[in-house]
Amino acid sequence: MVKTDVQAEALSAVDKRAVMHTYARQPLQIVRGSGCNVYDERGGSYLDFTSGIAVNALGHCHPALVAAVTDQVQTLWHMSNLYLTGPQAQLAGRLTEACGMDRAFFCNSGAEANEAAIKLARRYAKTRYGAHKGEVLTFANSFHGRTIATVTATAQPKYQEGFGPLPGGFRYVESFSMAAVREAVTPKTCAVMIEPIQGEGGVRPVPAAFLRELREYCDKTGLLLIFDEVQTGAGRTGAWLAAQRMGVAPDIVTLAKALGGGLPMGATLAREDVAAAFTPGAHGSTFGGNPVAARAALAVLDVVLAPGFLDGVKRRGEQLQAALCEVAMHTDRIQDIRGMGLMWGVEISGAGAAEVVEKCRDLGLLVLTAGPSTLRLLPPLVVSAAEIERAVAILAEALA
Ligand SMILES: *Cc1c(COP(=O)(O)O)cnc(C)c1O
Repeated sequence: MVKTDVQAEALSAVDKRAVMHTYARQPLQIVRGSGCNVYDERGGSYLDFTSGIAVNALGHCHPALVAAVTDQVQTLWHMSNLYLTGPQAQLAGRLTEACGMDRAFFCNSGAEANEAAIKLARRYAKTRYGAHKGEVLTFANSFHGRTIATVTATAQPKYQEGFGPLPGGFRYVESFSMAAVREAVTPKTCAVMIEPIQGEGGVRPVPAAFLRELREYCDKTGLLLIFDEVQTGAGRTGAWLAAQRMGVAPDIVTLAKALGGGLPMGATLAREDVAAAFTPGAHGSTFGGNPVAARAALAVLDVVLAPGFLDGVKRRGEQLQAALCEVAMHTDRIQDIRGMGLMWGVEISGAGAAEVVEKCRDLGLLVLTAGPSTLRLLPPLVVSAAEIERAVAILAEALA
């Protein structure tokens, strides 16, 4: 055995012994990444269609990200939010413009961005309509995070088991229909929170017509509309926000995953009158908007908003969709293909998604699941036409 194998086995043993068992790990140790490829400890290479779960939008070690982060770590790492730092202010300006929002709050993860959205919506509604307001509606099969509040917002029992008592103030809407929304609303309701495309819940795009109805209903009733774009945001769907691609403007939008290109970075953005509910001391974060993470996010914005980049994401997305449909014509194992831009779910017959993930991995392609029967493809946004062709050929072989 070569030395690296010994080291790899030792690390695997420590991992099994000393890390809490919250993850079902793939039997791979990834040691290096470049573009859309990653390499394991034995030198094996894999086409990465997971992007670290929609995080590495620019692939691995993109030169613009490496340069921005390297420059910042040699300048200033952290100061706390008691002082203004340039990268955060610059990012706030660029990000609010990209999102069509007025103000941003920075944090470090998707769950925290949603926590801030929930707190903001409650404070806004209480100030404006009275102390009784505070309930937030979320949808069946949603995913909003793992903190106690966001796991309660997540309307899937499997994520909540064993964590009670769960906080009150959340009600679940059973389907993407206005009848179901009206049934769930009470006099205490202050906001509706929705992922424009449900990610973890099975890659389920919400019909744009329903989002428009929801917008009208919120306008009429004074409810706030919160879009959780933690997975769909930052270019994933071929627009900076899925909201923009679907033509519906939320009152609050949350981002994380791809925003920092791989560094922990989350943001909650809102319109001016809503954002005004956060006064000094009302909310905060020690690390949020840290200069290194902010520089990374600025580099992501530079690349993704460069002329033509998002059109490229749309074109690659259409290519991927067409190629998946072609595969579906030659197998009875694909039940459905759903998605937008470079976020696709492939429904596999007989709850066999995990087995397809294993086969793909053995053939050199990393993909994800989203529930037991959905295969999830989230390539880096910089993926090439040839890489998509290669990935779909591997997938077809895995399904054969
Ligand atoms: C991943 C995800 C979250 C949680 O993000 P974390 O960074 O893991 O806290 C929340 N909402 C959606 C839609 C997500 O995909």
